Amino acid sequence: MIDLFKGYKGQALSILKKFKVRVWSDSKVKTTRGNFKGIILPRSENDDDLHIVLKLATGYNVGIDVNTITDMKEIGYKEAHYKIPEKEFPFTEGKPNIKLLGTGGTIASRLDYRTGAVIPAFSPGELYGAVPELADICNLQTEKLFAVFSENMGPDQYKKLAVAIGKEIEKGIDGIVIGHGTDTLHHTAAALSFMIQNSPVPIVLVGSQRSSDRPSSDAALNLIHATTTAATSDIAEVLVCMFGPTSDEYGLLHRGTRVRKMHSSYRSTFRTIGDVPLATVTRDGVVPIKKNYNHRRKDRKVKILPYFEEKVALIYYYPNMQPDMIYSLIDNGYKGIIIAGTGLGHVNKPLYPAIKKCREKGIPVYMTVQTLWGFVHMFVYDTGRDLMSYGIIPAENMLPEVAYIKLGWALGQTDDIEKVKELMLTPIAGEITKREPYNGYLIYQGGIPEVEEFIKKVHK
Ligand code: ASP
Repeated sequence: MIDLFKGYKGQALSILKKFKVRVWSDSKVKTTRGNFKGIILPRSENDDDLHIVLKLATGYNVGIDVNTITDMKEIGYKEAHYKIPEKEFPFTEGKPNIKLLGTGGTIASRLDYRTGAVIPAFSPGELYGAVPELADICNLQTEKLFAVFSENMGPDQYKKLAVAIGKEIEKGIDGIVIGHGTDTLHHTAAALSFMIQNSPVPIVLVGSQRSSDRPSSDAALNLIHATTTAATSDIAEVLVCMFGPTSDEYGLLHRGTRVRKMHSSYRSTFRTIGDVPLATVTRDGVVPIKKNYNHRRKDRKVKILPYFEEKVALIYYYPNMQPDMIYSLIDNGYKGIIIAGTGLGHVNKPLYPAIKKCREKGIPVYMTVQTLWGFVHMFVYDTGRDLMSYGIIPAENMLPEVAYIKLGWALGQTDDIEKVKELMLTPIAGEITKREPYNGYLIYQGGIPEVEEFIKKVHK
């Protein structure tokens, strides 16, 4: 059935219905701020219900506040011009079968990189219409699990995703791609790294920093790289696949527990922290950088552990933090706390009694470092030793967000804080490493030539 008001809801939908104006119609709109003429564009499910979006003859889109609209009138209808062509995704015997699970974010809502139309694309047909190269790589099935911006992802979604992936693996899929908003892509990557253990196939999270109505969009290429990885890579782990350098030369594959969004707008925003990336990927395939990884297998033995305790907090220490921050977590029933401390893992003295209180209440407190690179070292200064004597547990070189996710996952399985400690300090998916590469952190020091040189050195 054709949706005449695609993506519109609430007030915006009421206005369209009131004036009998359809999506894709060429319309005149009278407002208290002047008159407009253009094509009513569909909206994505992630958009608000307070604006009607018009494509003007100049090619620009304008959002019109529904409260300013006094009249609307259809004068034509131009759907064909903007629609992503729906083509049946071809099935080719012998090509790997890949499942794309959608969660939302920019990558899900704007995939037509050639026409520049702003359309939620997710059926295999729409994706094929938008990125035809995908058919050269695999046989693709798609399923939209959620349609949220990634700040709205959380424990419920992590658990549902893990269970859905487990089912696909059992059914025999050759690889998984997950379309996701970039902002919290690394939280979801960490959650899946703990919830899905011993996967026989690659599980690749991908997003896009720039929507595909912009010429510099990374949506199509990231999707091609992620699909290539899921279809052909020997690395059977939870991976994040995003732009490597600022050019579109190659994508990087990051281990799900060692990756972080490091720039608010660059396409090359994802960086491996505390290690080097696992591999590079181009349209020609995946080239591993690291040698140690879990290899693809034919069997279907996978362990799904979809647990998460929501009453876990991550607090970022700042000078003069007041102890009431921690007391309020205790009073509100929090079951575990991660601190991102300064330097080697410190907080100020006024916090000490609050931390002692956590120990008395059986609330585990783990220390991570704000520096991101490097390990917590609490034996170096007597302040660190004091903190440990009050019960703080150093979390090695786990990234603060990863430690937060792991603690939620561990406390979701048991209340026994000794068992939680064992889970926390036993590396499961590369979240704690023996050492960090001495020159690894150069990889995100800004200079692309350094990155190039570094990658050449480790690519043997
Ligand atoms: N705010 C968006 C999200 O994380 C950004 C993106 O998709 O890249 O969902």
